[in-house]
Parts: sequence; C-alpha cells; structure tokens
Amino acid sequence: MPLAAGRPYLAIPGPSVMPDAVLQAMHQPAPNIYEGDIVAMVQGMVPDLKRVARTEGKVAIYIANGHGAWEASLANIASTGDKVLVCVTGRFGHGWADMAEGLGLDVTKLDFGTKEGIDAARLEEALRADTGHGYKAVLFSHVDTATSLLNDPRPLRAALDAAGHPALLMADCIASMACEEFEMDAWGVDIAVTGSQKGLMVPPGLSFVFVNAKAEEARKAVPRVSRYWDWTPRINPEFFYNFFGGTAPTHHLFGLRAALDILHDEGIETVWARHVTLSRAIWAACEAWGEDNGALRMNVANRTLRSHAVTALGLGERNGAALRRWVADNAGVTLGLGLGMATKEDPNGDGFFRIGHMGHLNAHMVLGMLGTLEAGMQAIGVHHGPNALSAAAEVIAAG
Ligand SMILES: *Cc1c(COP(=O)(O)O)cnc(C)c1O
Repeated sequence: MPLAAGRPYLAIPGPSVMPDAVLQAMHQPAPNIYEGDIVAMVQGMVPDLKRVARTEGKVAIYIANGHGAWEASLANIASTGDKVLVCVTGRFGHGWADMAEGLGLDVTKLDFGTKEGIDAARLEEALRADTGHGYKAVLFSHVDTATSLLNDPRPLRAALDAAGHPALLMADCIASMACEEFEMDAWGVDIAVTGSQKGLMVPPGLSFVFVNAKAEEARKAVPRVSRYWDWTPRINPEFFYNFFGGTAPTHHLFGLRAALDILHDEGIETVWARHVTLSRAIWAACEAWGEDNGALRMNVANRTLRSHAVTALGLGERNGAALRRWVADNAGVTLGLGLGMATKEDPNGDGFFRIGHMGHLNAHMVLGMLGTLEAGMQAIGVHHGPNALSAAAEVIAAG
C-alpha cells in the first residue's frame, strides 16, 4: 500500500528543502519598498552574504535563477567576440558555455568528461598556449550537479598563476555555496555565482554574483553592458531602488534574511562539516549496496572528487527511473532524475538518478531517505548488497 502521506521530502538537487522559518518569514504583508525596515534589512544582509562566500569583495543580487547569474557574470566582463575558456565536467559546464555563446562570446571548451574532474595540468597547458592572453576568463563548476563532481578551485588558481595568465577565474557555486567548503578570497576566485534555492534554502528566484576588485576592473573595460545585468548600481547600494534594477524582491528577501540567520547561527564551517558527514553516510550505504554484485554505482568513484551536496548514481537499465517512481508514490521522497547521462542503450538516462543532500538536512532525514531507497530497491527487485543502513548509521554515530 502507498505510504506517502505525511511530510514530503524533496531530495532533488535544488530547489532544496525550505526551513519553516524561511517560509514563515515570507508570510507577511507587502512592505514599502522605498524606505523603512526593508532598506536596513538589505544593507545588513550584504555582509552576511559575503560571509557565506568568504569574500571582502562585493555582491550583486539579481531577481533571476542561476541562469540569470550565469548571464550577468559574463555580461559584465566580456563583450561580443571576446574569448572565454570553459572547463566542462558535466551538463552544467556545457550550460554556462552555451550562455556565453548566446552572448556572442568566442567559447573554447575543455571537456574533462563526467567522472574525473578538471585536470589542472591540461588547463595550464591551454593557458600557456594562449600567448596573446586572449581569454578573458576561465569558467568552471565548483560542483557539477549532473555528474556530482566536485572541482577544487585551488589547483585552477595555481594553473592560472603558473601560466602567468591574467584571465578571471569564475566559479559556478550554484550547487555548492553554503554546502561545500569555499573560500572565494583565499582561493583566488575572482567571480562566484550562486542561486537562492540550493544551499541557501530560499525559494528559486534570487541569484548572486560575488565580485572582487579585479573583476570590478574588468567591468570597466567593457564598453556597454545591458542595463539590467550591469552589476555597477547593484554592488554600490547607495540607491535602494537601483540595487535591484527596479522593485525589490521583497518576500524572497525576507526569506533570505531568515536563511542567513539559520546559516550563521549554525556557523558556516559547521554547515560544511555537516554536509561532509551526511555525505559520508550516504556514500557508505551506496558502497554497501554495490557490493555482492549489487547494481548500484556512484558516478564518481574517487571520494575526493565527490560533491557533498548531490550524488549521481547508476542503477542499470530503467531502474533509476523505476526507483524514483516507487519512492515518490510509496514513501513521499522525491529523488532527482539523471541528467546528461544518456547513452545509446539508455537514451533517456533512465538508469540514473540523483540524491540532493544540500541545505536544510539532518541525520534523520538522510537515514530515512536511505532506508526508503533500500525499501524501493527491494520492491522493484533490484539486487543490492547487505548492511548498507548499518554502514550509514555507523558514520552518523561516529559523528
Ligand atoms: C542548479 C544549477 C544551475 C542552474 O540554476 P537555475 O536556478 O536552475 O537556473 C547552474 N549550475 C549549477 C551547478 C546548478 O546546480
């Protein structure tokens, strides 16, 4: 019998679970947008956002999803015909590259496949070959949400420095910010973009572009930027109305204020550590299910290359889709579908699925979700190795 009634759990890699405090903060009448509390609230929020990205730089807030932040970040540092280099480790790298192409940029892609992450030596080679320093920027996904690869920004910064290349280093942190350890300034990232609906636990609709002084200089060299995407008025918040390029997204801001309080009350480093431990519990279960000829495989074999916010998995044949259907219909858990994993034998990528484990998530949610996956595999008749749940419990017990 279906056992899905009760509190649902959206375990997709964004939007993530929204805390009740965020939803409650949004439930209020329309405020005046020209003066009063909201102006002070936003001014206070800017430093709290920068504490999440770990930067002394500036932040532009857009009423847009992550795609908007992708476009905004590029529109401010490059114009038609300018060259950018994109390091691709899955669907989202292709997406940012496509955005750049749409803006008329001259895009070179370095494709690192779907399992290994970015090879900094190959990046350095490409940068050294660019003797005229044509590339304005190097783009990469901190976490590629399709493959669940985690790309460490530090070796990429080192590659730029070793090649003596002045390109900006631009990170897509949409899936990773407030989940994965990230130090924008200390790691030499010039521009970091993120959205509201993943680690920040707010409904989709806001996105953020963090910029350092070098990025601000690059903006000055661009002759014309579309008025809406231009970050200049947004990062210099003297005029509140300009800050959002028009009417402020009032209720998203109320939600964001509550989310930032939750994050900073826990402490951003504790938030990162929680994501690490919960991921290890998930990996322990998945590894056990794969033993004894079990069908389950994590896409990323190397632990140091795995995201702590999302896990992409293969279950073979159509079983990824079947498992998603079973847990949604029978247990109130919604898993993510496989993205960018299609093959000739599996044109829809139905053998794959993803677990989102980002944001407002704790041990009992993870253990419950894992128990539900095991029930689902039993119900649809997928062979899986034993002792997965006790392996996960052991990780949680060790803390
Ligand atoms: C979710 C995501 C995006 C796209 O964000 P939207 O809000 O859907 O536009 C881009 N990059 C990464 C890494 C993501 O996880």
